[in-house]
Amino acid sequence: MISDSEFAKRLYYEHEDYIETNLANRRFKHADIFPLINKIKDNNNFKVKKAGTSTQGRDIFLISFGNGKTKIFLWSQMHGDEATATMAIFDILNFLSSKNDFVELINEIEKKLTIYFMPMLNPDGAEIFQRRNALGIDINRDALRLQSEEAKILMKYLKELKANFGFNLHDQSTRYSVGKTSKPVTISFLAPPFDEKGKMNAVRNDAAKLIVKLHKLLSEFIPGHIAKYSDEFEPRAFGDISQKLGTSTILIESGGWKNDPEKQFIRKLNFIALLCSIKSIAEKNYKNEKINIYNSIPENREFLRDIIFRNISIVRDGKKFLIDISVNLEEVNTQDSTGFYYSSVIEDIGDLSTLYGYEDHDFKGLTVEYGKTYTEKDYTDDELSCLDFSQLYKKGFTNVLVKDSEFSEFSKYPLNLVKNSYTKFPDEIETDLPANLIFREKSEVKYALINGFLYSIDNFSGEIKNGTVY
Ligand SMILES: [Zn+2]
Repeated sequence: MISDSEFAKRLYYEHEDYIETNLANRRFKHADIFPLINKIKDNNNFKVKKAGTSTQGRDIFLISFGNGKTKIFLWSQMHGDEATATMAIFDILNFLSSKNDFVELINEIEKKLTIYFMPMLNPDGAEIFQRRNALGIDINRDALRLQSEEAKILMKYLKELKANFGFNLHDQSTRYSVGKTSKPVTISFLAPPFDEKGKMNAVRNDAAKLIVKLHKLLSEFIPGHIAKYSDEFEPRAFGDISQKLGTSTILIESGGWKNDPEKQFIRKLNFIALLCSIKSIAEKNYKNEKINIYNSIPENREFLRDIIFRNISIVRDGKKFLIDISVNLEEVNTQDSTGFYYSSVIEDIGDLSTLYGYEDHDFKGLTVEYGKTYTEKDYTDDELSCLDFSQLYKKGFTNVLVKDSEFSEFSKYPLNLVKNSYTKFPDEIETDLPANLIFREKSEVKYALINGFLYSIDNFSGEIKNGTVY
């Protein structure tokens, strides 16, 4: 039989063969998974049933595989904008139903386990890519009061299935660091506590042991990028209640990975982690893992920002001060919720030597000032498309006035567009302002930061990332 580490490696290199290509980025909707589930209905390997309907009347499904005694229950996307594991679940369904080299293992799994999948528990939230459901409720704080349809459905199946193992699948902020290191947390795990004291029992112990196995297997691919989620007891959360009900429950949070905004690499890691869990539960070999390793996994900490500029000078009242600046980029959904653009913010100013940036620039010797708005003229879209942006940067401008009607959600130019000439920005840099900065060496402009994206004057690539419309 194939070893766990060999299996993980094969999955890593062969994931492509199983990718559900209809789910290509995180903002898919219920209408995108509906036909996939209909297709699964025709597949004899699976049983599909309607588990219930969401607040706005979208069907929530329970898909099962196998007919063994040991039960596994996986639910994903109870937060509508946390879609990574849902993509992985559909990849796993492809894996389980394909004629591949792993037929023997899949037969074994089918005999020993019954696996229940409940993908996209919050389809109404997914529709507009938001965390909460259509009532504005966080389903993961509704496990006691059970006011939302979605929470009722999940609780019903937690109690009815009485699964041996449960997987509570989420996405977390991309800005968690592994302990105090500079490494982003790509995956975090938790065996949620079932009481205030954080006691261990046999149920939680099994979950922790399986996490130790997953930690070991995934460390091959993302060494140093795995952490433990906060283990504070939250009585209103499903993971904690599921553990209390006797299901060995594992929280998996998909975090961040540099240059993977759509989390396709992390989707692959979910695919590996969940299939390796399934194999390990079928073979019961997680029992050999040592619990003390679980306790030594570093925690999620908050030492990471999107961008940091270090050792720059600002001039106030003729005096120079040395500062660092951190900038974060927030995703804003487009009006139709099928895409997004970035909105930037100056997060902090001062001595940021204990923090790290995904992008980290030492700008020693440069001075910084807040970008200005060019107000001599209001531009049309046609005029902007043939504009020499670096000429504006050189004069300290990061924004231009535009004619109102032509521009809506965001700027496709490396320039911010000001629709309303009454919009005024402060002269000086402050926290919470949009990140529009001009960096100079002596008096000459070297870089412009437009809505958090850096453009070099000497080497202006013309690569366009989005600006903002104010
Ligand atoms: Zn979540």
